[in-house]
Amino acid sequence: MDIRTKSVHTGVKIDKTYNSVITPIYQTSTFFFDEIGKNKGYDYTRSGNPTRAALEANIVALEGGVNCSATATGMAAITAVMFFLKPGDHIITGDDIYGGTYRLFKYVLEPMGYKFSFINMRDLKKVKAEVTKDTKMIWIETPSNPLLNIVDMEGTIDIAKKAKALSVVDNTFLSPYFQRPLEFGADIVVHSTTKYLNGHSDVVGGCIVYTNSQLQERGRYLVNALGVSQSPYDAWLVLRGVKTLGPRMEAHQANAIKIANFLEKHKNVKKVYYPGLKSHPQPDLIKKQMKGFGAMLAFELNTAKVPLNQFFKKLKYFALAESLGGVESLIETPWFMSHASMGPKALEASGITQETVRVSVGIEGAEDLIADLDQALKG
Ligand SMILES: *Cc1c(COP(=O)(O)O)cnc(C)c1O
Repeated sequence: MDIRTKSVHTGVKIDKTYNSVITPIYQTSTFFFDEIGKNKGYDYTRSGNPTRAALEANIVALEGGVNCSATATGMAAITAVMFFLKPGDHIITGDDIYGGTYRLFKYVLEPMGYKFSFINMRDLKKVKAEVTKDTKMIWIETPSNPLLNIVDMEGTIDIAKKAKALSVVDNTFLSPYFQRPLEFGADIVVHSTTKYLNGHSDVVGGCIVYTNSQLQERGRYLVNALGVSQSPYDAWLVLRGVKTLGPRMEAHQANAIKIANFLEKHKNVKKVYYPGLKSHPQPDLIKKQMKGFGAMLAFELNTAKVPLNQFFKKLKYFALAESLGGVESLIETPWFMSHASMGPKALEASGITQETVRVSVGIEGAEDLIADLDQALKG
């Protein structure tokens, strides 16, 4: 079945009372028992809810795997996954991961005794060299945020398997429409469904996709025990959004390709980072593991010619905002906004500069977006 058919149909028709075409919102905290030990499969919404279950079934159909937990936010999903480990365990991850993930790892979990190696994950030799007897997880984010570096999923997951460590991929940036890490052997996929899966910037959410019953059992236990599951209403919104994932991703990408090419030619832009450009340094990996380029891009603005604030203020259609993956175009500065919590040293090490601008390209008309950038880039 085509992924677009799955996203429209899977899990959706669960109402047998009135045959509603759309999944009802089961906005209830609790479910009554017919008698002791006998209910209809749900007892309390933190542990399970039919609306949330519909979304979980839909995401499993898109990513693969055996089961999924929909969580309150993307960070809730990541937090729950980190509870698979314990203090003393070692995790290998990138030096340019999502800022919130870095904050959780570095400033919450590391002081609790978790051990991290934040490295350049493009270099498989480095990844291999970091493995110790305590390595229990390799955390992959590809393409990376915000510089769109590609991590070799197959090669990295192979290292994890040999080390008997869990491999986890944060697949937020491309969505299952353009990348499916489970096909490369990943154990767990996480998403911030806040981004492309929902796609309309009107909800925060996350999910964890499991590839076997052991992971599923422990993961669902953790999500319930930690209390990080998603509310029925928010799950319903994500389920509504996910139905248009395919057409949205195509529209996002078509715009991103045009904008990346426009920016690359502009004299006040020093460099553009986008997997769909010929100038991207990892064409073979892109071809091997990605079904599309996505719609996140970054560029180095010549701020001597066009001051950052002036550029942002002149823009009409690009809102100065964190987050990404919604139908509207967003723009921001990782150094001062999304990635500020990394601190200047880690920012510099990962290649982010004060001139780096990150764009989440929306689905507006490409000509309008390019004209808007053009007038703001005049300086
Ligand atoms: C936004 C994001 C997260 C965190 O998700 P929230 O829904 O904001 O908690 C994690 N990883 C990536 C790649 C993200 O873009």
